[in-house]
Amino acid sequence: MKTAAFKLLILGGTGDGARLAGALASVPRVEAISSLAGRVATPKLPQGRTRIGGFGGVDGLTDYLRAERIDGVIDATHPYAAAISHNAALACERAFVPLLALLRSAWMPEPGDRWHDAANVPSAAGIAALLGRRIFVTVGRQELAPFAAHALPWYLIRAIEPPTALLPPHLELLLERGPFHLDDELHLMRSRAIDVVVSKNSGGDATYAKITAARALGLPVVMVQRPPRPSVPAVGTIEAALHWVEERSR
Ligand code: NAP
Repeated sequence: MKTAAFKLLILGGTGDGARLAGALASVPRVEAISSLAGRVATPKLPQGRTRIGGFGGVDGLTDYLRAERIDGVIDATHPYAAAISHNAALACERAFVPLLALLRSAWMPEPGDRWHDAANVPSAAGIAALLGRRIFVTVGRQELAPFAAHALPWYLIRAIEPPTALLPPHLELLLERGPFHLDDELHLMRSRAIDVVVSKNSGGDATYAKITAARALGLPVVMVQRPPRPSVPAVGTIEAALHWVEERSR
């Protein structure tokens, strides 16, 4: 184990969080602890020290920061993981710990894209059911219940692990973890005769192929808008996050 001068908590659960932990493993005088929510039974564990499970709200996270003598926090959670990001902002303020958000830029529509913005997943489920009969749903397994309220369409649901929510009656479930590639996405959508795609605006490359495929096939995409995030300093790349750590660990 490294003798650390700077103890960093990475709030993770994303590819970027894991890549940041990997990059920091070889940085002297920095000890990074990656925190995962524990949503999936077989998580891809980042390099270095990890902890798994919720902290117990703002109070629990504040206590953790103090007890572990954390010198800095990087919030590398998914853009739709709004609760933990708000908790981190409050806890870091209370414990006087600097906080940086590492957040991928949102995808922007390009010529040929047919996006329909939805404020949230229930709204997306309603819009998709109006637009199509064979719906490809890629919003993660935690927010599938709203689709059960629209029982007529047939759904192709892709998630990393089996959903536990109430599901619509006509569906095929695909258990897969990205990254996904364009040829495979085109084949998948053609072979299932998909006529509408539902997506979160995750940003990054790992899951963008479905958006390119929908564009190529002329399909509408119902895009769930990102939830509001706390106003904290933010960067969009791992390099910038590393720079932030290096500045503070000298
Ligand atoms: P959320 O709604 O923001 O968080 C709910 C609660 O889960 C938090 O209050 C916290 O519990 C716990 N939690 C969340 N992230 C945590 C972390 N990294 N370490 C420790 N506890 C954490 O988050 P979510 O949408 O359920 O997402 C959970 C995790 O999955 C996140 O790490 C996120 O990066 C990842 N993820 C989410 C999505 C998505 O679409 N939401 C997609 C891909 C990956 P306590 O209050 O008890 O501390």
